[in-house]
Amino acid sequence: MAEQPPIPKPLEPAGGMSAAAMKDMQAMMVAAFQAANAPTAEELEKREAEKARLRQRKLNMIRLVETEVAAKRRRQELCRHKKPDGEDCVGGQDMSNGKHVLICLRCQKVMSDQPTEEMVIAQTTLQRLAEQGKLKIVNGKIQVTEPLNT
Ligand SMILES: [Zn+2]
Repeated sequence: MAEQPPIPKPLEPAGGMSAAAMKDMQAMMVAAFQAANAPTAEELEKREAEKARLRQRKLNMIRLVETEVAAKRRRQELCRHKKPDGEDCVGGQDMSNGKHVLICLRCQKVMSDQPTEEMVIAQTTLQRLAEQGKLKIVNGKIQVTEPLNT
């Protein structure tokens, strides 16, 4: 952008010119200055087009990220985390907080071998019901031996 000329400073009344005439001249100079520096219709149009272009670029980037995130999620949901021969393709890493994190080498899904809160509750509930004789776990399958709602 071109450097803008400084706004004219108020002038001292000169000989033969009244303060009021001086003030009028000052106002005319300021108006002329503003008119000279006002953006043209073409400049305004250019600025708006540039703004619109940047806005559109930002939107495109957001859509791209959203699309990539959705595609990754879909890939991870469909992944069996196994190699074609049926063997697990999960690698592990020990974290500084003592947890062990697993990551699928195919879909990059990060999994933790720490049971979630829901898993702990489910496990505790199953154990309690088993202790009460309401169910048995046979070959990894749960068998209900008594109605659970009693
Ligand atoms: Zn996977």
